[in-house]
Amino acid sequence: MLSVTSVPDPTCGAGEVLIRMRGTGLCGSDLAVYAGRRPPPRRPWILGHEGAGRVAAIGVGVEGLTVGQDVVIEPDYCCLACPPCREGRTSACAGRAAVGLTVPGLLSEYAVAPVEFVWPVAPDVPLKDLVCVEPATVAWAALRRSGITPGLSCLVTGAGSQGLLLCRALVEHGVTVYVQEPNAARLERACSLGALSAPQGGETFPYLFETSGASGAVEQGLRRLAPYGTAVLIGLGTAPLELSPRDLVAGQVTLIGSMVYDHPGDFARTVGALRSPSSSPLGAVVSDGYPLDDVDEAFAAAATASGKVWVDLG
Ligand SMILES: [Zn+2]
Ligand SMILES: [Zn+2]
Repeated sequence: MLSVTSVPDPTCGAGEVLIRMRGTGLCGSDLAVYAGRRPPPRRPWILGHEGAGRVAAIGVGVEGLTVGQDVVIEPDYCCLACPPCREGRTSACAGRAAVGLTVPGLLSEYAVAPVEFVWPVAPDVPLKDLVCVEPATVAWAALRRSGITPGLSCLVTGAGSQGLLLCRALVEHGVTVYVQEPNAARLERACSLGALSAPQGGETFPYLFETSGASGAVEQGLRRLAPYGTAVLIGLGTAPLELSPRDLVAGQVTLIGSMVYDHPGDFARTVGALRSPSSSPLGAVVSDGYPLDDVDEAFAAAATASGKVWVDLG
């Protein structure tokens, strides 16, 4: 059970930005904390990392942002100094702060973020598009890391909000997307984004994108991978896989684990494409916006909704 409670408003220090939050999306990692599968660092705790808002104040030394400007937050604060960060693989930074999981989240009226991770956006982008920027960046990074090129086909397993955003990104990239999803409403939404329902026969695919994190889906997906295929795993399941080394060796599988995204290129790409006339709106994957007072209902809906559930913070 969640409660809406009053906490002192944060203040911004040097190099930080205070943001009046407008909307925050819910995702699997939030649900894991909510359901007690992933303990928060302390209680009470503020969840949420998929947030958009407006600049309310700026700290000393902050340049390029003004009060009132619309922004989205890149909620993985890497250290920018360690070897992976210096090599551009900030997602592998051991000192990475994960907003809503290791530092307080964005499901609150005000939040504070380091200026490097605050992205200005145009004022006319709909809020429901903005709350999808973070998970859309996860999808984009998976696509980028896969190396898949237009004209190829792939299998996407799982059409929760991450799977839907991945279907959308792949379709826009010119890939023929087959999707496997047991929830009929989610499957239907994926098809409305241009994906096709995966055939149930023995067809194989040169690429697999696994978004559910369910071990069975990973095993099944790998069995449908064509020889020399590439499997990109995004879903963060913890149950062990039943897989022999031979399964991978004989299939000559390239296995890619795709964790979040790398700063700053991936976020820059998603933010830059927000108003591109050739792109369909990110908000097409959004289900309902819930008011903060109904946050429990929002979390209950997020587990099964066809599309991303988000909280409208007014
Ligand atoms: Zn997320
Ligand atoms: Zn680092």
